Amino acid sequence: MNEQDVSILIAVGDSAQRGFLVKTLARAGYRRVVAVASGPEALAAMEKGVFALVIAGGRLAGMTEYDLCRAIRARRAGAYVYILILARGRCKSPVLEGLAAGADAVLVQPVDGAELSASVGAARRIIDLDRSLRMTNEEVRALSIRDPLTGVFNRVYLMERLPQELKRSRRYGHPLSLIMCDIDHFKSVNDRHGHRAGDEVLRDFACRMAGSIRVDVDWVVRYGGEEFLIVLPETDLPPACVVAERLRQLVEETPFKLKEGESCITASFGVAVYQPAQQAGPITLDQLMEQADGCLYQAKRDGRNTVRGAAARRPAAKGCTA
Ligand code: GH3
Ligand code: MG
Ligand code: MG
Repeated sequence: MNEQDVSILIAVGDSAQRGFLVKTLARAGYRRVVAVASGPEALAAMEKGVFALVIAGGRLAGMTEYDLCRAIRARRAGAYVYILILARGRCKSPVLEGLAAGADAVLVQPVDGAELSASVGAARRIIDLDRSLRMTNEEVRALSIRDPLTGVFNRVYLMERLPQELKRSRRYGHPLSLIMCDIDHFKSVNDRHGHRAGDEVLRDFACRMAGSIRVDVDWVVRYGGEEFLIVLPETDLPPACVVAERLRQLVEETPFKLKEGESCITASFGVAVYQPAQQAGPITLDQLMEQADGCLYQAKRDGRNTVRGAAARRPAAKGCTA
């Protein structure tokens, strides 16, 4: 991270000192600097933008630098804000008061350029550390919710997100559909071509599923070995069956490329829908998943390579029965 990436808020009442700080920071290469004279202006600036470093003091108007510090700490902001207080000499123990208010460092005035640069350098180390920790956390989080083989979501994510989808569906009275799918006779792919080829098929299969649904709305989970779940919010049974049928064709019609040639593969699909507007009582997640699973097994029993929906009464030989 370089100086250009650090945004700094100077909240200093004294205009000469404010000017000195702006100039010193500009000379050190900091370009993203906002300067205000009062505490309320500082808080308003923080509502609008993100600042990694706040320098407060110098006869701040509207509130004390300590109150500003406490107000910043009380916010529920994501990134850490490093606070440097320029304390007034008349205060008995400015360092103690500043640290107690939540400041990271306190400089007692008068402050010269060298002191300021050294303190901003110390702030940079903490800001850099905070950024790299947050990036690592994001990476760990991203890895923890994805299936490493296929890159689609895993069951950890499913158990987090599906209850939220169900809640939303219940609250707004909108339907929520699940498509459970399972590759047909997948064991024989492994037996014929080897486990690695099987992995390749799984990757391609997941890619086809993920690439054929609504971006940022529908989502795919690897539910088990060769079993995937597709979640379709705001979708009733007939359109969900249309999606499942399209996916079924996408698997059947394009052979899977393997090192030693191509492999024709099919999959079976079970579709279940939660219709809060039409259902008497609330449904549980387990019940909805069991419904989708039941339909998938009906599809298997009906000869595989087919779609079965939860509302179906008469199973057809092929295609959607909803
Ligand atoms: P059906 O049509 O009834 O679903 O038959 P199937 O052969 O697909 O089902 P079965 O449950 O008998 O076999 C599933 C196979 O999936 C067995 C298992 O070795 C394989 N499998 C599970 N996970 C993986 C994986 O990560 N990689 C590979 N290559 N194979 C896997
Ligand atoms: Mg299978
Ligand atoms: Mg299976």
